[in-house]
Amino acid sequence: MSDTRSVLVLGGSRGIGAAIVRRFVKDGARVTFTYAGSREAAERLARETGSAAVRTDSADRDAVIARVRDSGPLDVLVVNSGIAIFGDALEQDPDEIDRLFRINVHAPYHAAVEAARQMPDGGRIIVIGSVNGDRMPVPEMASYAVSKSALQGLARGLARDFGPRGITINVVQPGPIDTDANPADGPMKELMHSFMAIKRHGRPEEVAGMVA
Ligand code: NDP
Repeated sequence: MSDTRSVLVLGGSRGIGAAIVRRFVKDGARVTFTYAGSREAAERLARETGSAAVRTDSADRDAVIARVRDSGPLDVLVVNSGIAIFGDALEQDPDEIDRLFRINVHAPYHAAVEAARQMPDGGRIIVIGSVNGDRMPVPEMASYAVSKSALQGLARGLARDFGPRGITINVVQPGPIDTDANPADGPMKELMHSFMAIKRHGRPEEVAGMVA
């Protein structure tokens, strides 16, 4: 693909998403990214990189679909926006859990389908899953695990639908990555590292490299 690829990153204001924005810009692509709560960080990143920041809440299905549709033919869609809610499943607010499913599952699905409508043959759809889609070594994260496992079915299914057009759909499943959501010096550090062969958090740039 040429270096004037059109790239949309859902959830690009901070952490892994911001690293993905930086990486695609560095590679010469035209990048637009969405944010929800972090307007200042988003505007700073847009200024710094020459990318475009637009506010779109990934919990709002119709807004996500409209954002993808209005982005025109994308060469690459990256769905990075995602949240985790920790806690006792018996005590959690079902509305909060459903919001997580809207952000982590519904948005990737509808964004991928909408992107495929206008995407040229050979387009790329990449969703950020998690190692927790395969393994869940701790309690109180079931909703997150459900959401990240669901992305595997999304990729396997839509790859069949869009494969004949050369469009690929892949899930990148990072382990612990040093971001606001999972700081390398956070309270879970020792526990997480105890499950890992290489006992360090990854860096957002490492995930961005895989995506690129
Ligand atoms: P952060 O919390 O550091 O950043 C999350 C990003 O997603 C922000 O840019 C945020 O934007 C955006 N986002 C969240 N909710 C919404 C929403 N409703 N609408 C639009 N954007 C939204 O998370 P990470 O960078 O750590 O995680 C990014 C992705 O990587 C997630 O899908 C996460 O599950 C996955 N992941 C992370 C791992 C880790 O250890 N850090 C490991 C494995 C997977 P804003 O602030 O503007 O709302």
